[in-house]
Amino acid sequence: MTPQADLAAELLIHLARLAQSGGDHRLTPAQWTALRFFARANRLSRTPSAFSAFHATTRGTASQTVKSLVALGLLERHRNEEDGRSIRFELTQAGHEVLAEDPLRNLAGRIATLPEATRTALTAALKSLSGTMALGQEVPMFGTCSDCAHCDPPAGDGRGGTTAFCRCAEATLLATEMDALCIEFRPRGGEARARPASGAGGVN
Ligand code: SF4
Repeated sequence: MTPQADLAAELLIHLARLAQSGGDHRLTPAQWTALRFFARANRLSRTPSAFSAFHATTRGTASQTVKSLVALGLLERHRNEEDGRSIRFELTQAGHEVLAEDPLRNLAGRIATLPEATRTALTAALKSLSGTMALGQEVPMFGTCSDCAHCDPPAGDGRGGTTAFCRCAEATLLATEMDALCIEFRPRGGEARARPASGAGGVN
């Protein structure tokens, strides 16, 4: 490792701590992470087990965090209409209102002021690093449809909109779903992702 790589790794951790410690303390860092995750994840991924994989924690700890957000009225359980068995979690109106005051917005706002080329390079580097770290640790690699090997390219849906098709979920993807985080993500041209030890995921 080079001193520059050491410094970059330390700065990443420092930045994450600064971002989590600033401002609003009504939720713990784990609760904020869960609230963000359930707001950003797609319907394949809005489960406690997917959250446990994303947050690199145990299923028990993830379930406790989810339960605490349900008790606060920020998340609610929904039974899957398709199979009537599996459960997914959705933000309530109160959850969306709390998330609008997410302390991470401070960091996002600062990233938004960076020159576009820097922002693009930073995002690409972080995506690549999180992917290689996930592969190395044999945990799921989260990503979005536009970079996913399961995604057939978007095409016009005949109604003026754009849709793509997910071969994993065997479902049509709307343009509005393409930027959601997915536990079934597999990088294009990359290695198959490791399955989580927790058995996370599954179509809701
Ligand atoms: S295309 Fe990939 S990222 Fe999108 S829903 Fe399907 S598996 Fe998930």
